[in-house]
Amino acid sequence: MSIVVQKFGGTSVADAERIRRAARTAVQAKRAGQQVVMVVSARGKKTDELVGLASEITDQPRPREMDMLLSTGEQESVALMAMAVHELGEEAISLTGAQIGVRTDGSHTKARIISISTQRMKDALDAGQIVIAAGFQGVDEDFNITTLGRGGSDTTAAALAAALDAELCEIYTDVEGVFTTDPRVVACATKVERVSYDEMLELASLGAGVMHSRSIEFAKKYRVNLRVKPSFADGPGTLISSEPANPAPMVTGLAFVRSEARVSLIGIPDQPGVMSRIFSLLSENRIPVDMVVQNVGVAGTANVSFTVAEDDLKKTLAVAATATHDLGGTVQHNPNLSKLSVVGHGMQTHTGVAAQMFRVLSDRSVNISIVTTSEIKISVLIDHKLCDLAVNAVHEGFQLSQELDQTPHVGVPSEVSRRMTRKDTSELEADIVSRLSGMEEIVVSDVYSDTDQARVTITQLHDHPGVAAEVFSAVADGGVLVDMIIQNVALDGKANISFTVPPTDVARTIEALRMPLLKHGESQVSCDERIGKISVVGIGLRSHTDVGARMFHALGDGGINVQMVNTSEIKVSIVVAADQTAVALKALQKSFNLTPNADN
Ligand code: ADP
Ligand code: ASP
Ligand code: MG
Repeated sequence: MSIVVQKFGGTSVADAERIRRAARTAVQAKRAGQQVVMVVSARGKKTDELVGLASEITDQPRPREMDMLLSTGEQESVALMAMAVHELGEEAISLTGAQIGVRTDGSHTKARIISISTQRMKDALDAGQIVIAAGFQGVDEDFNITTLGRGGSDTTAAALAAALDAELCEIYTDVEGVFTTDPRVVACATKVERVSYDEMLELASLGAGVMHSRSIEFAKKYRVNLRVKPSFADGPGTLISSEPANPAPMVTGLAFVRSEARVSLIGIPDQPGVMSRIFSLLSENRIPVDMVVQNVGVAGTANVSFTVAEDDLKKTLAVAATATHDLGGTVQHNPNLSKLSVVGHGMQTHTGVAAQMFRVLSDRSVNISIVTTSEIKISVLIDHKLCDLAVNAVHEGFQLSQELDQTPHVGVPSEVSRRMTRKDTSELEADIVSRLSGMEEIVVSDVYSDTDQARVTITQLHDHPGVAAEVFSAVADGGVLVDMIIQNVALDGKANISFTVPPTDVARTIEALRMPLLKHGESQVSCDERIGKISVVGIGLRSHTDVGARMFHALGDGGINVQMVNTSEIKVSIVVAADQTAVALKALQKSFNLTPNADN
């Protein structure tokens, strides 16, 4: 019998009527012949209320007690849900994280799942019961209750679906699916029919609150098909699976984080080991770093910028002070920023997506302070006061409120594909046990190099709205497909932008830039065809604080100087000198225990 996991978020179980409605959904699936595992969140604003209560007692609740407190919200919901199912005439059993056997590490309030034992759930399912699992919680090895971080019930659901090899994991929520952006901010946002894991990983980690980003890590790692569906209406929702929509839109969605803080280390030595020192310090202090930007160094010094959550700013500034004390350089910071990102598979094959985004922002006089990109996303940092204006403008600029292509997709995996490849039970169990060990460990799946890239750097640009738009419109008009874009924070009113292009396009790029740069008196263009780009690809690279530290440590030990850095949730890319590429590649493969590939 196939298993379906159905997760109900807080608003979907806010009161008795909604609990009954969710129970009916589960009972319907059971009566249609499926085994059903429900994952339930705390009711309505319960978790916020509990956080508020704690803050009335103390400013610094101990994390262990916070977890003990917060986990009660879900415990209440599962018991009520079981009663509702009983009332509908079906058998159901409510289980806490400990009773299910969700083992986590001991990092209270942000624990990571280590393993899940499926026996008790399977026995209950085989006995005809609906299993009602408390989301968001687990226990560490000493049976202390832990929680997975706010919004973590999605992660419980995806993890249970992976552990049980469920056919589908349905996420019932208060919207009709995944939208082109948060419908609370852009009223005309459109629901999308399907998004790929990579797009959703980027969107969720870049601020789209509809899914906990770690749930997508699970889904991608264990190939769980997720469907985000409305609780209060009928509708197909949005499928999150390995394939993007077909054809892939240039921009599938737009995500934003309202408050980010930028910290820049200015004038640090441009030499091997420096990034390693900085990232080791950040990792030792468990500070999750978000955007990391390093543009090419000038006169032996480099500038590196990164963003952190505003709550971590104080700790980060202390780390930055230690780093510059040891290495030299100065620290700059700005707490009042928002990050805006566009995500879409289609931008891999279309020129001018960056140019269009920058143009829309400049038309609204929004200045861009930092830019990072991956193949499928472009992120910019802007003044936080302009966040809503910018989100609406970019959404409109990419015409995301128009009806998207709703035609059925041919030849893409459907929800039944997992079932068709199902193995017999004993083989499957052995397989699951092995693949689930250390469920949330970092997965770096590949490290590869690309020496078929050239770098173009423009220095001394005026720092005002519209400059990035002019540069990239000109390059796109020249028909050049830009790969990596990096813009670090402007200094003394002057901005520097670097990007990579195919070496055969360098001459064309320089020609295309000639006219627009006439306005920028002292600006200079330089290029370097002797570079190598190395990409570390995986899942959840930014949410694991030690990926950067490990990378830069390996490179520093190998005496390799990092010229440029660019990050995303699924990829960290660095640029090094061409003649150091092979050594850098080997060092990184070794550091992430990957066997070198014969092609490299
Ligand atoms: P739940 O309690 O069901 O887990 P959440 O509040 O965590 O629900 O997530 C649903 C909310 O996410 C929506 O109400 C919506 O405002 C917000 N949201 C943010 N970005 C998006 C997006 N791209 N698509 C849909 N909803 C989004
Ligand atoms: N109740 C928890 C929260 O509000 C977990 C969740 O809803 O996913 O964050
Ligand atoms: Mg949620």
